[in-house]
Amino acid sequence: MKAIQTNLFEGISKRLQMNESIELTTQSLLAYGPKYKHWCMAWSGGKDSTTLVTLIVWLITSGRLKAPETLTVMYADTRLELTPLYFAAQQIMEELEELGITVKIVTAPLDKRFMTYILGRGVPPPNNNTFRWCTRQIKIDPMKAELEKIFKEKGEKVLMLTGVRQGESAIRDQRIIMSCGKDGAECGQGWYQETMPESICDTLAPILHWRVCHVWEWLKHWAPLPEYGDFSTALIADAYGGDEAEEINARTGCIACPLASKDTALDNLVKRLTWGYLFPLKRLKPIWRDLRLPQNRLRKTGKESKEKNKQRLGPLTMESRKRAYKEIIRIQNEINKVAVKEGKPTVTLLNKQERNLIRSLWKVNRWPNRWDGTEPTGDVLMDTVYPDGSIQPLINFGK
Ligand code: SF4
Repeated sequence: MKAIQTNLFEGISKRLQMNESIELTTQSLLAYGPKYKHWCMAWSGGKDSTTLVTLIVWLITSGRLKAPETLTVMYADTRLELTPLYFAAQQIMEELEELGITVKIVTAPLDKRFMTYILGRGVPPPNNNTFRWCTRQIKIDPMKAELEKIFKEKGEKVLMLTGVRQGESAIRDQRIIMSCGKDGAECGQGWYQETMPESICDTLAPILHWRVCHVWEWLKHWAPLPEYGDFSTALIADAYGGDEAEEINARTGCIACPLASKDTALDNLVKRLTWGYLFPLKRLKPIWRDLRLPQNRLRKTGKESKEKNKQRLGPLTMESRKRAYKEIIRIQNEINKVAVKEGKPTVTLLNKQERNLIRSLWKVNRWPNRWDGTEPTGDVLMDTVYPDGSIQPLINFGK
């Protein structure tokens, strides 16, 4: 192991830099905050938004910032949070509530959640190319709906604070990191900034200038101290690689996000003794991959009169949905058996309500719009139909 040499001046300089970062955050809120009576914070449970939430609350409770008339923390529960992040969020939520802060848990409607949408309705898992439905559906839209409710209640624009950071590289090219960026960005973050309707809120990113090392310094060493809020933020580092979190700089989002090429956060997590029992979660990604294969989906024949996109691959067959469902329940049970035995946090990939919904959708033979389940599967050989409707018959080499 490489020996780390520190000196007194390094410690002092870090402290000075931290104080500068905090000071800039305070200044931006002193400048823009008083224009709004109601503040909201978008909190995903990840490192940046947790820094935002705990820092702002500490600035207010320590008297450095004047409290707005109302402060609402909106916790985005995608139902796919990495276990230590979810666990830490629950504890921080309790701590916020003890301080009298309103926390709203924002979740997509039951039928629009990631797993119910895939397994119940039969919509294929999202991909990087043409079909990325998840961020908007499970993160942005529910947050927007909650914000609209608050706007109606208050009757005026609210100030939406987000944990968007530019970091060092982005400062160079002057672009705000959008959505599922690599290098430590959290999925959806930039979108909160960009897509919240201007008519109901203005957005401010008070930690935009924070460097990632300061985020870790805050979460691991400052926020847990009684004089900085006494928050349970240290656990968050576990989800990002523990002591190496800063070097690994993993991007976190949903467990086994189908759009990420690697599950860096999960891979590092299951290497740790405490979280090794979550290893079966590694089987989720292959499930999403498998579901996108042609044999597990239906395909239009191309001869339907109204279809512009000829012979497109569509929804998941009932068999593939049921197979995936069973495997997910198996993963959940395997993990929880060990969790209960070892007194560790359990996971709920599919809760009772979600399971009931999925099964009821199967019962009524539910398909996405313009599909009815009678279409052939994607692996069936068929005549080629071109966009202009001309047909090239299937060549049958057997005769
Ligand atoms: S983390 Fe992945 S699965 Fe989750 S919303 Fe973002 S892109 Fe979709």
